Amino acid sequence: MRTITAILAVCGGVLVASGALAVAALPSPQTHFGFAPGADGKLLDYEQIVGYLKLLDERSPRLEMRQIGTSPLGKPMYVVFVSADENIARLDELHAINRRLALDPEIPEAERAGLVANGRVFVLETLSMHANELAPCQGFLQHAWELATTADPAVLAQLANVVLMVVPAHNPDGLDMVVENYRKYAGTPWDGADLPAVYHRYVGHDNNRDFVTLTQEDSRAIARLTSSEWFPQVMVEKHGMGGSGPRFYCPPSHDPITENIEAGLWTWIATFGTSMARDMHQDGLTGIAQHWAFDDYWPGSTETCIWKNVVGLLTENATVNGASPIFVEPTELVANDKGVVEYAKSVNFLDPWPGGWWRLGDAVVYELSSFRSLLRTASTYREELLRFRNDICRREVERGRTQAPYYFVLPPTQRDRGEWVKLVNLLLEHGIQVYTATERVTAGGRQFEAGSVVVPLAQPFRPFIKEVLEKQRFPLRHFTPDGEIIRPYDITSWSLPLHRGVTAEQVDVRAPELEKRLRRLEAPLALPAGPRELPAGSWGVAFSANENEAFRAAFAALKAGLPTSRIDKPLAVGDVTLPAGSFAIRPGADPRTLSKLLGEIGVPATVLAAEPAGLRQVKLPRIALVETFFHDMDAGWTRYLLDSYGVPFQVVHPGDFDKTDFAKTFDLVIFPSTDKNVLEQGRYKSQDHYYLPDLPPEFRKGIGAKGMEKLMAFFDTGGVILAWGRSCGLFLDGLEIQRGKDVTEDFRLPVSDIGDELGKKGLDVTGSWLRVKVLQDHPLTWGMPPESGVFSRGRPVFRTGQPAPDADRRVLASFPEHDILLSGYLEGEKLLANTAAAVWTRKGKGQLVLYAFAPQFRASTPATYKLLFNALLLPRL
Ligand SMILES: [Zn+2]
Repeated sequence: MRTITAILAVCGGVLVASGALAVAALPSPQTHFGFAPGADGKLLDYEQIVGYLKLLDERSPRLEMRQIGTSPLGKPMYVVFVSADENIARLDELHAINRRLALDPEIPEAERAGLVANGRVFVLETLSMHANELAPCQGFLQHAWELATTADPAVLAQLANVVLMVVPAHNPDGLDMVVENYRKYAGTPWDGADLPAVYHRYVGHDNNRDFVTLTQEDSRAIARLTSSEWFPQVMVEKHGMGGSGPRFYCPPSHDPITENIEAGLWTWIATFGTSMARDMHQDGLTGIAQHWAFDDYWPGSTETCIWKNVVGLLTENATVNGASPIFVEPTELVANDKGVVEYAKSVNFLDPWPGGWWRLGDAVVYELSSFRSLLRTASTYREELLRFRNDICRREVERGRTQAPYYFVLPPTQRDRGEWVKLVNLLLEHGIQVYTATERVTAGGRQFEAGSVVVPLAQPFRPFIKEVLEKQRFPLRHFTPDGEIIRPYDITSWSLPLHRGVTAEQVDVRAPELEKRLRRLEAPLALPAGPRELPAGSWGVAFSANENEAFRAAFAALKAGLPTSRIDKPLAVGDVTLPAGSFAIRPGADPRTLSKLLGEIGVPATVLAAEPAGLRQVKLPRIALVETFFHDMDAGWTRYLLDSYGVPFQVVHPGDFDKTDFAKTFDLVIFPSTDKNVLEQGRYKSQDHYYLPDLPPEFRKGIGAKGMEKLMAFFDTGGVILAWGRSCGLFLDGLEIQRGKDVTEDFRLPVSDIGDELGKKGLDVTGSWLRVKVLQDHPLTWGMPPESGVFSRGRPVFRTGQPAPDADRRVLASFPEHDILLSGYLEGEKLLANTAAAVWTRKGKGQLVLYAFAPQFRASTPATYKLLFNALLLPRL
């Protein structure tokens, strides 16, 4: 690491040259904190990071901090602008230039030349969204101080051309959790242990899967910067990765890539990535990989802004354990991912790192080199980047005018109108131009009623519209002729209409008459308000079981103590037909309670003049949600979904099962998808090997025999268990119930998992949207259409059989014989034909509901939320 020391010495020389006064007024991080960021054993928490940046903001004209939102746990989030002081003084004028170049395809050439001449390149840098990937957020303080104090003419010239806008911690809540955990165990035998939780209020690592659906406050704050507020031309998301592979990853990414983004944008990503690799090699840094592991096929990460014409980059840095160094034996080094398989010199991995000690300080040195490179490249190409941003805007609008599809139309007649409204408002939040038809219109030979929402493709963010409103067809690319296909990094389906059960019609011909009858939607869409008060003499109100919002209403009513029932058959009220399972809610003693509820629900209620027949009263269920200490993201998403629909629940960890009297405390236990061995034993199993996480033993306790006995006692006395995905395995290999001191009753439910068997025959589902037939008129499927999509990763696959005398089963949803794939990628489709995807099963009074798919996958599958909500309200037998 001799070369690294030399780089720091050079930087130090520059800083001394900047003058003693500036250095004294602006203390370096080392002077301010008493150690350099990245020092062994030292981590800065969010308050320290923000506090130091505020100090620079107050004392330097080259910095300005602005709040951009609030984290899920209520911490203020900031962006720090860093540039030449004359640029900081005219940020608002520069902002107007950015907006114009990004969104206006018809700027006259002379005016455009003026905007380009006066504009500056804005580079958004968002740091350490994965809170244990610490080098970017810790190292940035050094970079900020260097830029605030430098007198180096070359760097000053760069700052004259470029405005950096840095989100110093993308995930403030997670950062503080990780830092607190590190400090707690520092110097103990568990120094550097993992956090026994998700590093976020809800979603942990999946915060980088949220940039299409925008469910979390932090994702929304950052997405606004690129979608509707600042329109930076360049964006980098800075991550860390494992410690035993390459030291640093620079773009470009590996295949597959999305087809919806034009070649020009990819060339800019490559320009920044390759300049970075070159600059880092020049700085003496080894182990830099490109075209490796990561791809740009799936939207959902922070770089989803590339579908909105931003030159979006990802970098990854080898991590350590918190701030504790690691030693990597040369024999342990692996690359082992697409692009670089052997850890050896390759065209995209030119100078492998040889192994040895690796410290947070080393990772910070790599970050500083990459930060400086980004600034240098953006400055070098200032004029070209600004011109490109407007060129691509022009080209995308032109494509939308001359190539199909021309429009997506979302008619107002929808099965779940609340989801239609939410989808339209999500598009608005993404900066999409959305219109409504002012009268009945014809397009592509089809008629659309007045009030239809129309999204024309002739607009700057056309790639994003296409990507999220189309169904996905995974591009098959191979490593060698006839060889293995190149698999995607993440999932392969994200179509918003399909995942939300909303009808969207694609129109492939230009319709000038339609365009004359459109009004721009400027404010969020809302359904016409329903009654806010119950008319005198009426019995109550109803909400249609077809609406997800009906469940929000039901839980709000139950929590407020209002008598709430489900109507067990269809009911016609005037011109409204309420389907079976709709909710009937009566006013309580205080009429204001119901009025408040009616004002809060996003869909209108139907007034019931008299008591309907077939009422089944529902009670507020007492829900246990099982969450492991193993960064349990699916449990986190479930907590988020339940909180957002006002469903109360209590988290129970597997290690606490033996102390929990489930039978007394709960009506329902939810097992979100997690590894069966983690649940049972507190460790992972892969083939014949067990793997332990880096967690202290108190967080590695599984359910165990005693805990399982408690759970089975709950089941035996009429408890309901809901499980999906991998957790189903816990219940499919034989169970037992204790019947007195020495008597055990063994039993097997009439359902088994044939997923492994089908996998060996070639079934492979990469996170896709698959068609199922849905059993109708069942309390678990009320509100669901006869045919739906589900989000599947291919495991488990159920087979039911004849039940034992005291057991039963019902297949709630099954895959059809043909055309199973709706969106994404599926190998071995025939193997899935006619298999069960959702099963209700019973033994004695106990009921178990098993879903092969995630009904709430990343809070992005509202089409199947009803399957989850119905299970919460399933009555006891
Ligand atoms: Zn990461």
